[in-house]
Amino acid sequence: MTEVAIDTAEVVAKLAAHKRPAFVPIIESGDSLQSSSKFSGIAWINSDEEWPTCGYCNKPLQLFLQLNLSEMPDRRSYWPATGFLQVFYCTTEDTYCQEAGADMFSPFGKFQRTRVVTPTGSSRAYEESPVEIPLPSKTITGWKEVADYPASSELDLRFEGLLNEEESTHLFDLATGFDKDESINVISDKLAGWPMWLQDPGYPDCPECGEEMDYIFQIASEDNLDYMFGDCGIAMIFQCKKDPHLLGFSWAGS
Ligand SMILES: [Zn+2]
Ligand SMILES: [Zn+2]
Repeated sequence: MTEVAIDTAEVVAKLAAHKRPAFVPIIESGDSLQSSSKFSGIAWINSDEEWPTCGYCNKPLQLFLQLNLSEMPDRRSYWPATGFLQVFYCTTEDTYCQEAGADMFSPFGKFQRTRVVTPTGSSRAYEESPVEIPLPSKTITGWKEVADYPASSELDLRFEGLLNEEESTHLFDLATGFDKDESINVISDKLAGWPMWLQDPGYPDCPECGEEMDYIFQIASEDNLDYMFGDCGIAMIFQCKKDPHLLGFSWAGS
């Protein structure tokens, strides 16, 4: 077999029509206001509601991400003008609840809660996190816009033949190999852009209307969130455009 040298710039040119903006969070260590966009920390909880708990171990769920929808650089038409998109997830180590029941690894499993909350007044105040072992909190203070392209498996599925096999392999190798800085797929935490699939695309179907859900946000293992999804997996938030109260959260490994 002969090595085929692939020019990344040529691949970028071929994918130009499918370029999307992605927004990489700019971070400050530590928690801020309850209404801030953040990884971990104290979530906005309406004063007449309780912090979400795990459907299996009943412990308070870890806040993975909160986005203040009134200050996003890229908005979905079905988002409320004010509100919080929140992902809560069970990180109780001795029970490993994401594999506990019939809904294991499901984007809608009872070991997590992914939702949009509309504020109804003030937030319930917390002197400290109700989570047993809270992950280090990071506040999102801004966003950096970058160019993003479909992952190789998404190209195979939706845009078959656009890249040849060597180019497609090159794209995947850049995203997953030792030259990650050269990747044209944004493999870090990001809002919007294209999801970085390490395997086949895994857009869930909406449990209500059955249509493929919209990809919203990507959380990479041990990027801003101090958490490993399986073996360096990448997690995604999904939302149904028709039923925006339905959100899902799932991850896939390599
Ligand atoms: Zn649990
Ligand atoms: Zn739906």
